[in-house]
Amino acid sequence: MKILVINCGSSSLKYQLIDSESEKALASGLCERIGIDGRFTYKPDGGEKSVTDIDIPNHEVGVKLVLDAVANPKDGVVASLDEIGAIGHRVVHGGEKFASSVKIDDKVMAAIEECNDLAPLHNPANLIGIRACQAIMPGVPNVAVFDTAFHQTMPKEAYMYGLPIEYYDKYKIRRYGFHGTSHSFVSKRVCEFLGLDRKKSKVIVCHLGNGSSISAVLNGESIDTSMGLTPLEGVIMGTRSGSIDPAIIEFIAHKENKSIDDIMKVLNKDSGVYGLSGGVSSDFRDLGKASDEGNKLAADAVSIFSYSVVRYIGAYAAAMNGVDAIAFTAGLGENDQKVRKQIISRLGYLGITLDEEKNKIRSEEVVISTDDSKVKVCIIPTNEELAIARETVEVLA
Ligand code: ADP
Repeated sequence: MKILVINCGSSSLKYQLIDSESEKALASGLCERIGIDGRFTYKPDGGEKSVTDIDIPNHEVGVKLVLDAVANPKDGVVASLDEIGAIGHRVVHGGEKFASSVKIDDKVMAAIEECNDLAPLHNPANLIGIRACQAIMPGVPNVAVFDTAFHQTMPKEAYMYGLPIEYYDKYKIRRYGFHGTSHSFVSKRVCEFLGLDRKKSKVIVCHLGNGSSISAVLNGESIDTSMGLTPLEGVIMGTRSGSIDPAIIEFIAHKENKSIDDIMKVLNKDSGVYGLSGGVSSDFRDLGKASDEGNKLAADAVSIFSYSVVRYIGAYAAAMNGVDAIAFTAGLGENDQKVRKQIISRLGYLGITLDEEKNKIRSEEVVISTDDSKVKVCIIPTNEELAIARETVEVLA
């Protein structure tokens, strides 16, 4: 079966067409600037990437462009659209309603809509994408795969905040966690890769990208994770502050005469390594280059980031009463050997030594700790689209 995987934002729509048997992406690309002007990118596997400026007034038109491209006789990848058996949608917030992926019907749509308050930027856009597919491809089943679902196994100790209980009762304010598709995929894969029994394993996954989160996966289930009610909590990120003393918000509001909205923008867009480096960049490649050229703020930003990851690893080793494997994944975790080294060099107390040569490898499954290390440290490339395609097949089976 061929699965169309859709990741919809308010003005964008990323897609991949995946063959569920070979697990290969047959084509991928994105629609950008939807409702503004429009740009369409299409790349068949092994073929040329094409970028077309074309009017995309809404998401339905975007989905139509995707379908025309994949079935195009010139560089399409399917002979007929009938080959597309299902559509898998990334949905950011499933609240407490969804602990696993589901086939979408009217009830599910309503339940996703009820979670809109928890992810006001993302869930409405995800719903638009689902509706567009329903309109353009009636009869093809849609499956929702939630970023939060994998973390629904967290125990109360891990997901409750120390706030008056009425806020949980009234608004379901609690830790949800994100990047669940990646944490699930990578924690499973690292066990297969190392030959560990997943049902008896203690794994820490470090998903380090623009947005970063760490998770503790005990016996195959997430028992804690660094992101919270929203993806703002946890480790320092590209432009997000991660966890801070909440009193800082009031302090800045008074000193700088800022509103809550202004401060939320600072915490989401102007902070993290971008803010710490004095605006050098949110991209670790730029920060690495700037540090090499002697920029002290850039170097400090990277060290402060790495230390914030080290803290969570320590906390999660304690939460699981030990750890068998630590997996690095996502753009930064898979590629940045300097950051990995900064983090791993602080984990000697766990009996870990870094293999400096192996650590030079990028974006490949590899053990980067020495053979005599008590805990195995690996790079495991994530593949969220493939994970969504697999979930879609499983839900429909
Ligand atoms: P997102 O959270 O947007 O999905 P990614 O997982 O794609 O992010 O990670 C993007 C980040 O990964 C970039 O901002 C950059 O900091 C980092 N990154 C990507 N490639 C490299 C590289 N070769 N070396 C160092 N950092 C990299």
